[in-house]
Amino acid sequence: MNFQLINTEETISRILSLIREARERVTLISPYITLGAGDRLGRAVREALSRKVRVSIVVRQDEQTPLKDAWLEAMRPHIEAGLQLHSVPGLHAKLYRSESTVLITSLNLLGSSFLNTIEVGLWSQEAHALREVDAFIKREVAPHASLVVLDAKGRLASTPKKHEQRVRSKPAPREEKEGCCIRCGDDIPFDPERPYCWDCYTEWAEWENEDYEDDFCHACGDDYPATMARPLCRDCFRQSA
Ligand SMILES: [Zn+2]
Ligand SMILES: [Zn+2]
Repeated sequence: MNFQLINTEETISRILSLIREARERVTLISPYITLGAGDRLGRAVREALSRKVRVSIVVRQDEQTPLKDAWLEAMRPHIEAGLQLHSVPGLHAKLYRSESTVLITSLNLLGSSFLNTIEVGLWSQEAHALREVDAFIKREVAPHASLVVLDAKGRLASTPKKHEQRVRSKPAPREEKEGCCIRCGDDIPFDPERPYCWDCYTEWAEWENEDYEDDFCHACGDDYPATMARPLCRDCFRQSA
């Protein structure tokens, strides 16, 4: 794998470019993150979300380091704009990636780290490096991640990770009825229990967020904020009931 060794300034500027240039997805893993509405990082994240890039942020949360109310409130506008926020106990790794770029570094995404510390980074756009980092996140980070969500009263709450693992064995036997992947819109067999194509399912399965809103109705393919839990638009749901 080819990684380029970079210093503090380069690390900061390449994290910002990674977010600004992302077309599909961004994952920012860092124990401590602050995203001020006015700072460069907060702005880059908001702009990515408005370009329909899927942005996930993973921070540390455990007994020694609980998420503070004021911090959660500061994250609220980003969550309302589509940010997926996860927490992981004991997180110390710092890892940033988009669909095209990875950066492994000592740098936390904090205003203070941006100022007076000496940091180091390993940066790559090599396909092999991207795959290895994806596999690492899936193996070492994702299994410990809990989704932080807005509860019914509009408060932010971190739900414990579900224990039952969704088992996905062999692809279902080809059915006659065609369905539509709710994320990319590709044709797939109709099965409301499996509304993603294989590639999109692998992406989804990294976080297993049943309420993550994607783009298409699994049955008719119309634009609709379909989710794993509710993959059909209202009309198709009524017809299937
Ligand atoms: Zn798909
Ligand atoms: Zn439909």
